[in-house]
Amino acid sequence: MTKKQKKMLYRIVAAAVGLIAVVLLDHFGPALLLPVWPLYLIPYFIIGWDILWKAIRNISHGQIFDENFLMAIATVGALAIGEYPEAVFVMLFYQVGELFQAVAVGKSRRSIAALMDIRPDSANVERDGEIAEVDPDEVQIGETIVIRPGERVPIDGVVLEGASALNTAALTGESLPRDVASGDEVISGCINLTGLLRVRTTKEFGESTVAKILDLVENSSAKKGRKEQFITRFARWYTPAVVIGAVALAIIPSLATGEWTKWVEQALIFLVISCPCALVISVPLTFFGGIGGASKAGVLVKGSNYLEALARTETVVFDKTGTLTQGVFTVTAVHPGDGEETALLETAALAESYSSHPIARSLREACGRDLDESRVGEVKEIAGRGVQAVVDGVTVYVGNDKLMEDMGARWRPCHNIGTTVHVATADAYLGHIVISDRVKPDAKEALAALKRAGVKKTVMLTGDAKEVGEAVGAELGLDEVHAGLLPADKVAEVEKLLEEKSPKGMLAFVGDGINDAPVLSRADVGIAMGALGSDAAIEAADVVLMDDKPSKIAAAISIARKTIRIANQNIAFALGVKAVILVLGILGKANMWAGAFADVGVMVVAVANATRALKAD
Ligand code: ADP
Ligand code: MG
Repeated sequence: MTKKQKKMLYRIVAAAVGLIAVVLLDHFGPALLLPVWPLYLIPYFIIGWDILWKAIRNISHGQIFDENFLMAIATVGALAIGEYPEAVFVMLFYQVGELFQAVAVGKSRRSIAALMDIRPDSANVERDGEIAEVDPDEVQIGETIVIRPGERVPIDGVVLEGASALNTAALTGESLPRDVASGDEVISGCINLTGLLRVRTTKEFGESTVAKILDLVENSSAKKGRKEQFITRFARWYTPAVVIGAVALAIIPSLATGEWTKWVEQALIFLVISCPCALVISVPLTFFGGIGGASKAGVLVKGSNYLEALARTETVVFDKTGTLTQGVFTVTAVHPGDGEETALLETAALAESYSSHPIARSLREACGRDLDESRVGEVKEIAGRGVQAVVDGVTVYVGNDKLMEDMGARWRPCHNIGTTVHVATADAYLGHIVISDRVKPDAKEALAALKRAGVKKTVMLTGDAKEVGEAVGAELGLDEVHAGLLPADKVAEVEKLLEEKSPKGMLAFVGDGINDAPVLSRADVGIAMGALGSDAAIEAADVVLMDDKPSKIAAAISIARKTIRIANQNIAFALGVKAVILVLGILGKANMWAGAFADVGVMVVAVANATRALKAD
């Protein structure tokens, strides 16, 4: 409990004790000459002064109709008609409910924060041969930081020296440590487990993954789902409607029957029991819990609207490279054309020096040597095709068949099993490199799980060759495969699929952010892999799978559905009980005690139900 909540607890206890004392005095005390009722005002003000104050302040700000106003006029009215203990009790009950809810919100906020507890507070930076502990904000790109075993990685960077195992659980939910050594990238937020690492920073703290993810989570509530918006709109017209109803209830029957006291009291009861707090609080809390539950599973959802969309996913479209496959190619064959083998690999790797495509990375790796980047210039990356670069003064094309055709390079088609990367210039065919990728270990299970979850259609869109695409598609059991696509073709395919699906169903696109950012934003839900690798993916996507595992999509869908189910239960329960009590109130069958009990009860049940969304099954 926070200090504020503790204070409220003391007030509740003090007011409760005061109320009991005055009630006892009233009933069993000696026949006092003075009236006892003014004493009720003491516990009333102890417990209710802030509500009264807020009600007055809000009126002066022009925001009249809120729950403070309802509570204020209802209890002041009760006092006015001589229902003293009721007035105190209703206020007391309301504050108990508020406290309960504050504690619950705090709890789920804290567990999301704990889960996302990845913001480091300091960095050990090497300056002038000495190690200084500074705020990570002050560390510049290219400085060297030292991370000791047990410390968090404060800023993204590349390991200069040392080897260690990193715990990435806070980022990915993955419990197995990841081994890193000299030359590997480390991502902020991971925990260094075993060895000392010297790391050259590649980013500033502000643009590090950690800061970004925290920013996303903290701002995720800004993107409200339709259900949440419904609650906001609902509260806006509900309160004035209730107040008008209460006024009508006080006046109309009284004019007819002349029983003013009875109907004014009835109207006040109506006001007290009408408070929609449970509904207004529990639905956003449910979505908050759902987003928290998803992050526990390693899935970052950027807003509750995406939870709603995920729950209705009907078509899932996948990118191939880096999404269903690991995106780590191994060179299986090198076939020199007019030159020799090592020269071919070196030229290809040089041309790919600046590309972040998985193929480029693999070629650089396969080349093995340190590359002299000054030999490369005028690099142009042609998405979905390959690259063009000037290497040692000659323009070289490195890419697939289409690139060769488009560029009018000298080349020969060949039929290999695997992805073929041709290397050519305008008048010489240097040869081709055959590379192959492996499907992710959980990809097959991921697709089966989607089918079990009721996804109607799974599609793969790839820029790779038809044979490669179809082989992967058959292995994994996808419904449709479209190969040889450029990023723009992928958008066109997705648009076609968007038209084919049922109007209520949603289309999710899953990609790694390389060559598919446009589709990620075009789909109803863009799901990005490679949160550990590509910042672009985090930017463009609505949902990020922190550990790159396609099997997490089905998990996210089931969390989303559970969240929606809980939200619906809460809406139905809160509105149902409210309706019954309001009708009873109008009929004069519910008194203030019943109203207060019902409201607090509904709030407690709804909030408890909402926190279920936070728990993973
Ligand atoms: P996917 O749709 O499978 O993720 P991409 O759209 O990223 O694939 O790329 C499609 C194809 O374009 C690749 O299979 C490759 O043939 C070619 N390609 C793209 N970028 C490069 C590159 N940097 N070097 C060589 N080939 C490339
Ligand atoms: Mg790709």
